[in-house]
Amino acid sequence: MPIFFYRYFMRSETPSPPKQRETIFGCVKFGLIAITGTTGVGKSQLAIELARALNGEVINADAMQVYRGYEIITNKVNRSEMQDVPHHLLGDVEPHREYTVHEFEQDAIAKITEIQGRGRIPILVGGTNYYIQSVIFRKALISKNARNLTDSDVGCDPRLHAFEEQNAHKSNQELWEELKQTDPIMAEKWHANNRRKVLRSLEVLHTSGKRHSEWIRESNQAREQEETLRFSTLLFWLYADTPTLNQRLDSRVDKMIERGMFDELAQLKNQMSDPDKENVSRGEFTSGLMQAIGFREFSDYLTTTKDSSEREQLKTKGIDDMKASTRRYSKRQVSWIRNKLLPECKSTLHKSIRAHTFVLDATDLSLWNTDVRDKAIDIAKIFDSNLPMPEPTSLSETARTLLTDIKSSPNSALAWKRHLCTVCSKSAEESSNGVAREVWLNGDDEYQQHLRSRQHKKNTKYRKRMYPLQEKKKRI
Ligand SMILES: [Zn+2]
Repeated sequence: MPIFFYRYFMRSETPSPPKQRETIFGCVKFGLIAITGTTGVGKSQLAIELARALNGEVINADAMQVYRGYEIITNKVNRSEMQDVPHHLLGDVEPHREYTVHEFEQDAIAKITEIQGRGRIPILVGGTNYYIQSVIFRKALISKNARNLTDSDVGCDPRLHAFEEQNAHKSNQELWEELKQTDPIMAEKWHANNRRKVLRSLEVLHTSGKRHSEWIRESNQAREQEETLRFSTLLFWLYADTPTLNQRLDSRVDKMIERGMFDELAQLKNQMSDPDKENVSRGEFTSGLMQAIGFREFSDYLTTTKDSSEREQLKTKGIDDMKASTRRYSKRQVSWIRNKLLPECKSTLHKSIRAHTFVLDATDLSLWNTDVRDKAIDIAKIFDSNLPMPEPTSLSETARTLLTDIKSSPNSALAWKRHLCTVCSKSAEESSNGVAREVWLNGDDEYQQHLRSRQHKKNTKYRKRMYPLQEKKKRI
């Protein structure tokens, strides 16, 4: 949908109605705007522009930016960049203190309610996935749903041990055949050799009189109906294509060094080795601000007593490592947004409290004002006025590509299919101990992960070398 349409659409709207949103059981729900995306893509800037246009206030959702000081390594916005927009949960926590996601969740929700109470719009901005999800969804739903819900209760249930003993005389194959007769859906899910899972599914039917697959389906349905969102949400995913973003991230590291990052790192190192501080001795790079990218990468450089040429080498290596870590981090952020956050948001679209997701393309910074700022402001105004939202895929080609094929829910326990990897499986004559070995993967995700694994690649190479003809035939 071209931008002029929003402009036209908005012009026809006279003064905004109050910021009250959908009414559920008599209580008024207020809206929340959230901005996420990889590091270095311009989230903080967009948050400020939106806040200025919509009378909003910004709440930080970056796990490193909650800490006080160290402006350069944490990439915090400075006073003048804030342009008088109030910022919350930004630089409040002492660097040596461990600030938990639970604390963040409570603090952020309190701030959101407070801002809404002032009749203003809260804008949550950050790239720390567990921070964003803890605020948007109740009970950190994503991680809970991502797990197979039948896994958690296997192994510690005393009834299962009794059932196991009763069936001890049966072979794996016999048990599986039994499951295939009574609950074919679960039999399709488990491999016959997965004795514990097969037994568990049989035991569920035995003790409850209802099939295991039926239990799963019902619990999925219940979750489908459940309100998962805390607030009616407008989520912006600020995106830049990977090659462009990587260049931008590299040059950002260089700029951080110019601005005096090493002084900050040395200062942090000093502060962390102060024995009076709590938490210091615990895992060096895994708590508090020490997890910031850069601290671990330059650790050798900052502590070396070597001469200047070796120091220079360590510095160069640190720069390379920091750039690589930043790129890896941004890649992880994108895959979390695509595979966890977006499916979870999509699953709210048929409920009464919804999360609308829009992609903004920040690849070409010369188009920022038209492609990012203005589009975001227009959409946010539509959201704030409680008008029908535009179609997210119509926003840009990038949006269409990124938003197509988003799974509707991350939890599809019954849709799982087992995959047999014919490359890694071995027949009796192929294997060294004369025993056939089948490699089964549970579900598409596990299968895709397996196809990328070192072991699978190694086996592919080996097969090509050992059985070139056979492999060729297979491909035909
Ligand atoms: Zn394989």
